[in-house]
Amino acid sequence: MMDETTAYDAIVVGAGMAGLAAAGTLVEEGRSVLVVERFDGDGGSTAMSGGWFAFSGTEEQERDGVSDDADTFVEDMRSTGGGRTDERLLRAYVERQDDAYRWLKSLGAHFGIVKISSGQSRARSHHVDIHGLTHLLRERIEGNEGGRMLSHSRARSLLVEDGRVAGVEVDTPEGTREFQARGGVILATGGFSRSSDLLERFAPEQLAGIPYGGRGCEGDGLVMAWRQGAGFRDLGYVAGTFGSHPLTGDEEHELLTAFYMGAIIVNLHGRRFTDESASYKTLGARALEQPEGLGFEIFDSIVRAKSLPGVPLNDIDHLEQKGRLFTADTLEELADLAGIDSDGLVQQVAAYNEAIASGDPDEFGRRGLVGDVGELVPVQHPPFYAYPAKTLMTSTYAGLTVTPSARVLRVDGSEIEGLWAAGELVGGFHGTAYLTGTALAKALIFGRAAAQDLVEALALPATVTVAS
Ligand SMILES: Cc1cc2nc3c(=O)[nH]c(=O)nc-3n(C[C@H](O)[C@H](O)[C@H](O)COP(=O)(O)OP(=O)(O)OC[C@H]3O[C@@H](n4cnc5c(N)ncnc54)[C@H](O)[C@@H]3O)c2cc1C
Repeated sequence: MMDETTAYDAIVVGAGMAGLAAAGTLVEEGRSVLVVERFDGDGGSTAMSGGWFAFSGTEEQERDGVSDDADTFVEDMRSTGGGRTDERLLRAYVERQDDAYRWLKSLGAHFGIVKISSGQSRARSHHVDIHGLTHLLRERIEGNEGGRMLSHSRARSLLVEDGRVAGVEVDTPEGTREFQARGGVILATGGFSRSSDLLERFAPEQLAGIPYGGRGCEGDGLVMAWRQGAGFRDLGYVAGTFGSHPLTGDEEHELLTAFYMGAIIVNLHGRRFTDESASYKTLGARALEQPEGLGFEIFDSIVRAKSLPGVPLNDIDHLEQKGRLFTADTLEELADLAGIDSDGLVQQVAAYNEAIASGDPDEFGRRGLVGDVGELVPVQHPPFYAYPAKTLMTSTYAGLTVTPSARVLRVDGSEIEGLWAAGELVGGFHGTAYLTGTALAKALIFGRAAAQDLVEALALPATVTVAS
């Protein structure tokens, strides 16, 4: 029998990182909140993610001797995003990151390894057990009088009263129902990587990538806000991520970034086609232009030895055990096994090694392993390895225009009263590419910001008792 309560202080749509952070914050503020989730906690990209959060100035960075600060971080995000980022959102992120990071720790989250990855000039990706973390957040929400999760229920449209968003219409297992939100609605429905309709409309070339991301990521929130006149940003930069085996399935997020350890990437002709140190979103776009959309990560025993077992994106051992790698003692044999043009590969590797030895820039201007960081290594010590990879359509990182407090803006820049949005359905933050760890952290930081702003806007005493 369904709980008959239909009016809440706030309604959060979607139970990924952004929605859980928003709802967790709301219940701690003594607010009643309904979290509407289409599936049962496994519908979003958060549950599939690698669990990397990008923060600067943390205890873990200090532990590892990494010197970092907010200004350097903003500069990295700005340049990774090709200068197309909304500066106010970047500033809000770094200003609020410490509060969000400490909040997760206070809930019991443990950040382990910290490493450098796509778009970073410092080791800034902090790893957390993502399932453990979402469990903690759910406990926080459901352990409070004010928190209620409504699973297997799909929000269909926003209810508007006197020009203000005042609730949501939801398809529940018991039929269509309306729920009222006194303070407003926070949309946290994720991206649209699983919507062939929206991809066809906004980024048709990406349909050639491997469809991925949470199964609920069909852009519902984006469309609901669009109907209310919301503005969009960054839709022209939607790009998949390079580095997944063509047979990658939903059961495992298989992605290898051996290129950030020193590998080169070649196409079926054995030719490089990009600076491998760039953001893997940029690499994803380049790979889609290659024959059969294929790129091969080519490396030798030196890079092979850098494998980090158990660490997503870096675990070459696991992929070898899974039978995903081609291995040979010569480049010619490797090329034959992998179906790459042999002469092309041999010539390409020779040219690459020569450029490193001479200190001259190579043909694509690669200067480091990740951006400018890390010394390049020649591909020369057998055995040699090839990992065939394609572009994986994991995330869209484009959508609604928002303020730094996550209020949704109309196409003309005015606010849609009563409506906030956080997480992957928001645009303006990443610009042209993506810095690893900023998607989860952005969902967390702005989910929390939306909740705090909604509470302030509500300006009423708390309606429920908060559990300690
Ligand atoms: C394989 C993979 C690995 C990744 N690894 C990382 C990483 O390590 N670090 C990083 O920063 N980013 C990573 N990302 C990206 C990151 O995971 C996402 O950008 C982030 O989790 C998005 O969070 P979210 O809360 O906005 O959306 P999601 O986590 O996608 O959650 C959205 C939720 O809304 C629900 N929903 C959708 N429509 C409705 C509706 N109409 N009604 C009710 N509910 C609805 C969905 O079912 C879902 O549960 C990864 C992405 C993928 C796919």
